[in-house]
Amino acid sequence: MRKTSYWLSAALLISPAAAWSQEEVEIKVQQLTEHVYMLEGRGGNIGLSIGDDGVFMIDDQYAPLTPAILEAIGNLTDQPVKFVLNTHWHGDHTGGNENLGNAGAIIFAHDKVRKRMSTEQFRKLIGGRTPPAADAALPTVTFNDRISFFMNDDEIQVFHVAPAHTDTDSLVYFASADVLHMGDVFFNKRFPFIDVDLGGSIDGTIHAVNLALEMTTGETRIIPGHGPLASRQDLKDYRDILLTVRNSVAELIAQESTLEQVLAAQLTESLNETWNWNFINGDRLVELIYADLAKDPQPGTEVDSE
Ligand SMILES: [Zn+2]
Repeated sequence: MRKTSYWLSAALLISPAAAWSQEEVEIKVQQLTEHVYMLEGRGGNIGLSIGDDGVFMIDDQYAPLTPAILEAIGNLTDQPVKFVLNTHWHGDHTGGNENLGNAGAIIFAHDKVRKRMSTEQFRKLIGGRTPPAADAALPTVTFNDRISFFMNDDEIQVFHVAPAHTDTDSLVYFASADVLHMGDVFFNKRFPFIDVDLGGSIDGTIHAVNLALEMTTGETRIIPGHGPLASRQDLKDYRDILLTVRNSVAELIAQESTLEQVLAAQLTESLNETWNWNFINGDRLVELIYADLAKDPQPGTEVDSE
C-alpha cells in the first residue's frame, strides 16, 4: 500500500493540475547568452530565445503559472511569445499550452506528444490515469523526426530521440548560442523519472544522453528538464550513474533476483546523498529500471558507456 500511494503522489507532479498555490512560486530568470535564457519556477525548466524575431519558448510548466511566466518574459522584451515547443507530453512541461495558445502562440511538438495528450493515458506501475488535455492545449504543428527554427540570429535545431524519458522526447540545440535544452532526458543532480509504463526506457535514455555528449563540448551550456543549469561534465556524471545502476540491476535480473531482492541489495547507497530528491529516490529508480529490464528478453546485456 505504501508503494502505491507513493507513486500516486508522484503521478500528481507530472500531471497538469497543480496541487499548490501559484503565490508560492518564484520565477527565476537566468540569461545564458545575448538571446537565450533559462527560467525556473515549478515543473520543467523553460528555455527561451528572445530577440527581434519574437520569443521562442521551450516548455511552459503548469497553467496557474502562465501569468507569472509571461510577466517575467515581459520584463525582458516587448515581443510576444510566437512559438512554444514541448520537449515531451508530461503535464509539468505542457500545462501552460492552453493559456499560451489562447494568447496567440503556435505550439510545436513531436507527433506522439499530440497523440498521448489527446487520449487518456494509464500507468500500470504508478497506477494513475491522465485524462486527455483540452483541444486548445494540443500542439497545432507536429513533426516526426526533426524541425528547425531560424530566428534571433540562431538556428534552433529540434530533434526527436526515442525511446528515452518517454517515447515523445525532443532535444533542442541553439546552434549559434551553443545551448542544449534536453527536457527530461536529463535530470541534473537528481535521479531521473523514466516513464517506463508509457514508452520510456533506461537504455534509450542512456543512448540519448550519449548522443548529447557527442554533440556538445566543455563550453556548451546544458538546460536539464529538472535541476540547475549544467555543463557537459554534469551530463557525463549523470550518464555514468545511470549506467552503473542499470548494469547492477541487469546483473541481478540475470541471476533471476526478484524486485525485493534487488531493492535489498541497496545498489544506489553511495549515490543517494547526491541524487535523491522528493520525486525519485534510489529505490524508485531501481524499481523503474527493474520494471523496464525485466520485460527485456535478454536482461544482463551490457550497454556501452560511449
Ligand atoms: Zn517528464
